[in-house]
Amino acid sequence: MSLLVVGSVAFDAIETPFGKVDKIIGGSGTYISISASYFNKKTNLVAVVGEDFPEAHIKNLQAHGINTEGLQIRKGAKSFFWSGRYHNDLNTRDTLVTELNVLADFDPIIPDSYQDCQYLMLGNLVPAVQKTVLERLEKRPKLVVMDTMNFWMEPQFKAELMEVLGMVDVLSVNDEEARQLAGEYSLVKAAKKIMKMGPKILVVKKGEHGALLFGEDQIFFAPALPLEDVFDPTGAGDTFAGGFIGYLSSTDDISFDNMKRAVIYGSAMASFCVEKFGSERVMNLTPKELEERVQEFIDLVQFEISYH
Ligand code: AMP
Repeated sequence: MSLLVVGSVAFDAIETPFGKVDKIIGGSGTYISISASYFNKKTNLVAVVGEDFPEAHIKNLQAHGINTEGLQIRKGAKSFFWSGRYHNDLNTRDTLVTELNVLADFDPIIPDSYQDCQYLMLGNLVPAVQKTVLERLEKRPKLVVMDTMNFWMEPQFKAELMEVLGMVDVLSVNDEEARQLAGEYSLVKAAKKIMKMGPKILVVKKGEHGALLFGEDQIFFAPALPLEDVFDPTGAGDTFAGGFIGYLSSTDDISFDNMKRAVIYGSAMASFCVEKFGSERVMNLTPKELEERVQEFIDLVQFEISYH
């Protein structure tokens, strides 16, 4: 089943307690498509970059089998730039700079060859662009998953965010974003409110504390793998989303039970992402490493109890 990924492809500057990088490749579209490509060999990307973007990175995406026909390169324009600083606990961060550049007036053109996609991942991006993508697809995909962030919950974007939320099946956000969107501290209450906004399923990512999957009347929890070294959580949420939809689309099963497995695969992918700065680690995984990591998740939570 083919997958369409829309998201930012960007330059990031990141500060963590372990170091600082001024200009590395990032963006939700980058992390999602790379992560999904380990599961689905029919991953198609729609995104925009400026003339300043390195061709080598586009080649890297292609080397992962990602179709970049829908990646626009705008002459004379600058790529999206984001900069963030992590707090000591690495679970929270401050956005220092967001320069939309090419994203400000991005017109997402969907190549004809993408029109038959059955799975759509709307990565963190201008909500109006996410909506346009959905509207431009001749046939509604079987499953539409959306990610967003606090930046798009500000008053100037909120109305459009709410519109697109009403059109998707699954929303994936972190705990802080879920609380902000719903105006509720309790994640259970927040989930109920968000599911009234449109999505039937909500995924709440909680960094090193794992992820929650909320369905209509069921909840599933997946832990995060306790890691010895965490260098940079940037892109972990997107890498999670890429593993989640990559697995769902490759198995073509959107039952709640399969979503539980997808959350585990997403968590396994995210656990790699944080081990190095930027996308370096997720760019270079072997199937064996992935298999072993998923087994570690199984071992972490499997136990037997008998009642007498
Ligand atoms: P994550 O850590 O999973 O939330 O994703 C971080 C990535 O999101 C970075 O690589 C950024 O380039 C990208 N990003 C940050 N802010 C935005 C935004 N407002 N719109 C789209 N992408 C963003």
